[in-house]
Amino acid sequence: MEDLVRLFKNLAQIDSVSSEEKSVSDYILNFLKDLRLTPIQDGNNMIYCRIGDQPHPILLNGHIDTVEPGRDIQVLEKDGFLVSNGSTIIGADNKVNVAAILFTIKKLITENKDLNVELLFSVREETDSGIQQFDSKRIESKVGFVWDGGKGSLSWFAKKAPTLEDFKIEIIGKSSHASRPEQGINALNVLLELKDKITLGSPDEFSTLNIGLINGGSATNTVPERIKLEGDLRSTEITSFQKIKKDFEIALTESAEKFNARVNIKWLPYAYGYELDLTSKNAQRLLEIYKSQGIELNSEETRSGSDAGFLNHIGIETFCLGDGVFDTHAVTERINIETFYKLQSIIENIMLNFQND
Ligand SMILES: [Zn+2]
Repeated sequence: MEDLVRLFKNLAQIDSVSSEEKSVSDYILNFLKDLRLTPIQDGNNMIYCRIGDQPHPILLNGHIDTVEPGRDIQVLEKDGFLVSNGSTIIGADNKVNVAAILFTIKKLITENKDLNVELLFSVREETDSGIQQFDSKRIESKVGFVWDGGKGSLSWFAKKAPTLEDFKIEIIGKSSHASRPEQGINALNVLLELKDKITLGSPDEFSTLNIGLINGGSATNTVPERIKLEGDLRSTEITSFQKIKKDFEIALTESAEKFNARVNIKWLPYAYGYELDLTSKNAQRLLEIYKSQGIELNSEETRSGSDAGFLNHIGIETFCLGDGVFDTHAVTERINIETFYKLQSIIENIMLNFQND
């Protein structure tokens, strides 16, 4: 089993901050080719690999990018945990998952086991959901798994996840000299008008709306022509999400019209919300497999997104499960080595025993 830790260390010690995944992607590509598989690396450095040729495969997904500080990572072993030297993360989010999947594939192929799986390793999960650019028509599976989250627990499982979209807004008026305001259209007036029409913060109990970046104007003596706003809207209830989004657009348009200004709104979907049906056949099978491993899954609502959101959105019933990692995105990020072995054993059981149809 030391090989699992060694494989993780190899992956972790290849820098792969979001958008810079090429080296780690090449490593995975070669790892799979060495097993005589036929992986595909797409133009964004995502890796897809079909193993087996029976109908009804299952999908195993993980992301290969990390957050900062994620350069020159050293993985150390301390008191039974894998830890960093204190100056970086260890990229256990999500490389323990990636390592456990790769390790298991190699193990089962070496043991001549029949596999019927698809692998998809995605990029930019931490920044702008690169998986959305994957040619998803390739995916045959109707059920998928990703181990990404859970605050150190393997029994965690995201039953419900929020919808999250970023937005970019441009308010366009007309500049004029400050001494002749009547000749211009002041973009700031649109923003001030908007202020009374929307609720920033928590528009309702399920949702948050934030404008985080505000830029505009060109000079102290010029009526501002352009204001740019960027922010995000998130909600655990899709109907709330859609209503707030629509109201926000209407408020913007009406505010602009009042001053004869124009407004452009661009929405950038980041995470797709979902709610899994725990009574589905696949959910029941999953609970059974975990039970056989001595783990009772605890379903929870999560506040953060994952690739499971997009995969569910395109019709693949995808379960986001606990990866056993503590303090993700922090320099204290760590995983207990025993937990890591357990994660591998769960993944092995799913590859061997999850009967999909
Ligand atoms: Zn992650």
